[in-house]
Amino acid sequence: MKNDSKTKNRRGKLRARTAYHEAGHAAVAFHYGWPVWLCTINPATIAPIYAMSSGKRVRLNDPGDAIGFTKHYDPCYPTQIRGSLYAGNIANVERSVTVGFAGLAAEVRFDPSCEKDAKGRACGDFENVETTLRGRFGSFLPDSVEETKNRCRARAERLINRGAVWRAVQKIAQALLEKETLTEPDIEAICAAMPATIRGQK
Ligand SMILES: [Zn+2]
Repeated sequence: MKNDSKTKNRRGKLRARTAYHEAGHAAVAFHYGWPVWLCTINPATIAPIYAMSSGKRVRLNDPGDAIGFTKHYDPCYPTQIRGSLYAGNIANVERSVTVGFAGLAAEVRFDPSCEKDAKGRACGDFENVETTLRGRFGSFLPDSVEETKNRCRARAERLINRGAVWRAVQKIAQALLEKETLTEPDIEAICAAMPATIRGQK
C-alpha cells in the first residue's frame, strides 16, 4: 500500500513536470507568433516516439509514461521545403531550436532539483535540435553548431524566465493537468488573456 502511494506520487510529480515541459514549448512557440496546434500530456494520444541512444533505437514513451507532446507551426519544417530557402532567414532556424529547448527550460524552472533527469527525458528534443542544426541547416549557420545551440538554449531560458511567458507557461500547464489535451483554440484563449508582450517578440 505504501509503495502504491509512492508510485502514485511519483507519477503525479512526473505528470506535473511533463505539463510544464510541454507548456514551455507551447508558450515560446506562441511567443514567436507560431500557432500551437496540439499540446498533450495524455500518453494514449501520443504515437510511439523513438530516439537513438548510444547507437540503439529506444522508445521514449512507453504507454503510461508521463511524456507529452506539443505540435506547433515551425517555419523550418513545412513539407518539401529545402534548407537552401532559409539561407537568408537563419533567425527562424534559431527560433525553432529555441522552442526545442524551451520544454527543458520550463521543466527545470518548475522543479530545479530535476535538472539531470530532465535532460535525459528531453533527449527527443535534443535529437530534433541536432537534426535541425546538423542535418538540415548546418551549412547556413553563421556560427558553429555548438555556439548556435548554446545561444538558443540560453535564449530559451531567458524567455521562460520572462514574467509574461512564465505566467503563460503556468496557465497552460494548469490547463493540461486539468484537461490533458489542449488544441489551438484552448492555447489561443489562454495566451490571449496574457499581456501583449508574450506575442511576436524575438
Ligand atoms: Zn520536449
